[in-house]
Amino acid sequence: MSVENFSAAADKAIKNDGLQQRLAHITHEFINKRQAAVNAVPDWEAWRVAGKNIKQHAIEHLDIYLEEFEKNLTNAGGELHYCQTGEEAADKILRICQQHKAQLVVKSKSMVAEEINLNQHFAKNNIKLVETDLGDYIVQLRGDEPAHPIAPALHVGKAMVAETFRQEHKNLPRNRPLESIGDLMAEARGILRKDFLTADVGITGANFLVAESGSVVLVTNEGNGDLVSTLPPVHIVVTTIDKIVPTLYDASHLLRLLCRSATGQPITSYASFFTGNNQTQDGDGAIAFHVLLLNNNRTQLLADDLRPALSCIKCGACLNHCPVYQTVGGASYGGAQMGPIGSAIAPAISGIKRANDLVFASTLCGRCDDVCPVKIPISHLLRRQREWSFLQKTIAPQKQRWLKYFRRASQSPKKFRHASHAVRRMLRFYNRHGMIKNIGLFPPARPWFAKKNLPSPAKKSFFDKVK
Ligand code: SF4
Repeated sequence: MSVENFSAAADKAIKNDGLQQRLAHITHEFINKRQAAVNAVPDWEAWRVAGKNIKQHAIEHLDIYLEEFEKNLTNAGGELHYCQTGEEAADKILRICQQHKAQLVVKSKSMVAEEINLNQHFAKNNIKLVETDLGDYIVQLRGDEPAHPIAPALHVGKAMVAETFRQEHKNLPRNRPLESIGDLMAEARGILRKDFLTADVGITGANFLVAESGSVVLVTNEGNGDLVSTLPPVHIVVTTIDKIVPTLYDASHLLRLLCRSATGQPITSYASFFTGNNQTQDGDGAIAFHVLLLNNNRTQLLADDLRPALSCIKCGACLNHCPVYQTVGGASYGGAQMGPIGSAIAPAISGIKRANDLVFASTLCGRCDDVCPVKIPISHLLRRQREWSFLQKTIAPQKQRWLKYFRRASQSPKKFRHASHAVRRMLRFYNRHGMIKNIGLFPPARPWFAKKNLPSPAKKSFFDKVK
């Protein structure tokens, strides 16, 4: 799946009843948990403002804090690698693994690894890479795409997981019980434990990079991140430049916002801080510690008014509250950039031509703006990307023409009234029992009516009634 297939993938997702039920269940569960966690903080708004200021300051001084991070990471025995493109990053990780003669690599959740297609790159080069987050492990076994940054397997029901395990774990007895979530978790844990203990390299993502200490901060709930980063002799962190924060205090404030907004927890089960390799610190952890910092066109976002997009702390709250995401799910977005914030960032990463449909995959209702813990004006960013799409002429010419007519009509109240009278009269002509099901003679509206019906407009407009 890729970003340009959004419309087709969304169509398919809408018709998938099982997916629709699971999406409704899980997004509402996330919404309720977040709301309860937010209600328990009397000055949540002040926390949001502080979070926004921390991220804004870090992004505005990115060059300074990246240098400071590199210096402190290197002093602690780590190695930093800047990568401009996804291909470069995937290749660099592969080369580090080859230098260490790795045959088995374990990995914890990382949307950046999804962005650079790391799993596919390893498969091509015959190195076994095993996902260790339960959701990602299920997605990997099924050959699917993650459906949510926090709950990657939300589209897969319990029975489907059991079926996948029976197919893939061929050495286990066929008639073993796999009915409960506990059974499934115990089986996955047993299989993965052996991989943790024998892996040559562990790969993780990062939630924050702390400039003042050179530390990498990682939050997980399953503990797999700690096993991946401490048991194998080599730990590789793959992350992006926008994860930088100036101080440990800043990281701890953002952690409070992140956990509450993501899962409704005051803090996740594991919040780990990795600083350097085991030769310079307390003897724990990996012998070699590499941090890969990916740009992948994110510096383009620095240059214009899309800059707030780089403040995202990837909590997923905007996805859970988005009516479009709630309907189509994460896999429809065709990559690591999902939901409203993903749609605002995707044009920089994949180009406006490829990501054009995503820019329009929002009702602009503004729920995402209201819940974002670092106050990113997401709907404004999407509007900005739509303008860009219009200027780049990536919208279909017919649509552009109608938008131009609409703009002209809406600039004069008189013209607008005449135009809306004409449209109302035309729509009423197609009225069948209060509904309009198609207006076949009007080609620009055909795609819209192929998927939706419209209630017939009233005989008189509101303006006509009150004038
Ligand atoms: S943009 Fe979305 S994912 Fe990012 S911090 Fe805001 S709510 Fe969370």
